Amino acid sequence: MAQIGVRVLQRQTQQVNHDRFAIELDHVRKSYGPDGTGEIYADLHFQLLRGTFVALEGPIGSGKTTMLNMFAGLERPSAGTITVYGQDITKMDEDSLAVYRAKMIGLVPQVQTLIPELTVCQNVELPLLFARVQRDDRRRRVDEVMARVGIRGEAERVVGTLSVGERQMVSFARALVNDPPILLLDEPTEALDPLMSEVVLGLLRGDNMTAGKTIFVTTHDRRVTELARRTLRVRKKIP
Ligand code: ADP
Ligand code: MG
Repeated sequence: MAQIGVRVLQRQTQQVNHDRFAIELDHVRKSYGPDGTGEIYADLHFQLLRGTFVALEGPIGSGKTTMLNMFAGLERPSAGTITVYGQDITKMDEDSLAVYRAKMIGLVPQVQTLIPELTVCQNVELPLLFARVQRDDRRRRVDEVMARVGIRGEAERVVGTLSVGERQMVSFARALVNDPPILLLDEPTEALDPLMSEVVLGLLRGDNMTAGKTIFVTTHDRRVTELARRTLRVRKKIP
């Protein structure tokens, strides 16, 4: 596999005060191949402030999904540490990572991970079941989030019968239902029509569902980067 080196061009220099940061990367390296081949990131060292909205732009194959997955604890860095709200997630075992994801992360992946046999509201409810939220509370929260995302009319439809864009909105509702402090969105407006994009952009602008959250979005969409407080760019290293 050809070596792909990528670096983040824009870095933030802040006085170190860990309480201010949502995500801190300390000399993170990531390669998929053995012995450092297939290198995606050579040395990532930056911090994201809590409660900010940061976009990540870059060409296809530059490592955007990889970075998002490392923040979600779905991929481990090859070296270095990632600290999220004060916890070093690179030292966690798989069980602790599952708890971390359930409590801290709302993820809207690029490739849909909904359960196609279940209905929309059953899919949205899943994180609340994992978190052992009481039944009445689950109903209320599922209703509220589906209304906000504009899919309450589809509540009883089986997800396997929905369009790609409709599934994206269900994925959004599922990410928000647990009220996590961090939202990780992988190219969230890619498959959406103008109307649905407006709903997503509205969420990114901030309201009672998203206010105060740390939002990290990979995107090629100018409308998204214009809303972001900060835009990181990755590029393929010139060989
Ligand atoms: P992007 O999201 O920016 O399109 P990705 O993070 O998905 O890029 O992938 C970056 C590079 O890493 C790509 O060249 C991809 O083929 C490679 N890659 C991603 N996941 C794996 C994997 N599990 N094993 C090997 N290579 C991978
Ligand atoms: Mg990707």
